[in-house]
Amino acid sequence: MTVRTRADLDQLPAYVAGRTVPGSIKLASNEVSAGPLPSVVETITRAAAEVHRYPDMGATKLTEALADKLHVAPERLAVGCGSVALCEQLVQATCSAEDEVVYPWRSFEAYPIITRVVGARQIPVPLTGEHALDLDAMASAITSRTRLVFVCSPNNPTGPLVRRAELEAFLDRVPSDVLVVLDEAYWEFVSDPEAPDGVEVARARENVASMRTFSKAYGLAGLRVGYTYAPEHVAAALRKVCIPFSVNAVAQAAAVASLEAQDELKERCDSVVSERRRVRDELLGLGYEVPETQANFVWLPLGESTQEFNEHCLDNRVVVRAFVGEGARVTIGRPEENDTFLAAARSYRR
Ligand code: PMP
Repeated sequence: MTVRTRADLDQLPAYVAGRTVPGSIKLASNEVSAGPLPSVVETITRAAAEVHRYPDMGATKLTEALADKLHVAPERLAVGCGSVALCEQLVQATCSAEDEVVYPWRSFEAYPIITRVVGARQIPVPLTGEHALDLDAMASAITSRTRLVFVCSPNNPTGPLVRRAELEAFLDRVPSDVLVVLDEAYWEFVSDPEAPDGVEVARARENVASMRTFSKAYGLAGLRVGYTYAPEHVAAALRKVCIPFSVNAVAQAAAVASLEAQDELKERCDSVVSERRRVRDELLGLGYEVPETQANFVWLPLGESTQEFNEHCLDNRVVVRAFVGEGARVTIGRPEENDTFLAAARSYRR
């Protein structure tokens, strides 16, 4: 006799992380190449000397700093071990077995995995032909069993944003007992003036949460910390289902220091936005299809050529993220890293 694991887990794909290949440039995980914000590094070193103590389980300082910055009540905030943990907590907090979670697809690959692991039903809704969320179809997919809807904006891995008017029209169609989670992992890179601010939307509606992370623009992916602004009773439920002490002390200290470094953050994001424009324009000029993107990556819907393109990039010392049969997602890196990638993209076309 052997120990039995859940049979339904056998059918579940595992989360695939972007690869690190020694000697190659990694543009595969939407990290910022620039590292943590410069003024935060010393805080990290100092906090590391105290790791024999358990962290503050309530993440009090970080919650207060976020409440201050966002002008919101701290009771409506929950921090988590990366926003991916918050995704899971949100499903745990809202769904019982066989309840439904509606999400766009292709989108963040954790949505279907988490939904299934928690025991809820996956309701994926295909993207539009322009690789954007089909909010009309998502609204139509909601049933009396739907408890949660993920709206990923900008959408990972394709890049397009949901604009304010489109979002409001969608939210008007969602029943008030269904939680809509605006996954704004790439929020800091958004430059479109018609972008909704998820926190403001969530303040005005009783069934909306905004979820953001310190992993991307803030450069703290390795420390694992994200946050959600949600209705107060939802935030309380998120804290209840959280694994105790999962937001570590170094992450909490680094996140607080990062919030104080807004000038450094702005400089970094401005540079990503201008590089994003340069990379996309150049790829379009080379004849690639590249959907409009508001994140720190571009999406190349290469279909059956994806694997070949991926291997060509690897041969040219660039690691991209390939979704076999669909496309490749390429993170915007430093200018010289982007140049190396563009050279590979150019030689692939020849
Ligand atoms: N949401 C989206 C859309 C993402 O792309 C990611 C990371 N790839 C996450 C959430 C999770 O990020 P983290 O757990 O590092 O905060």
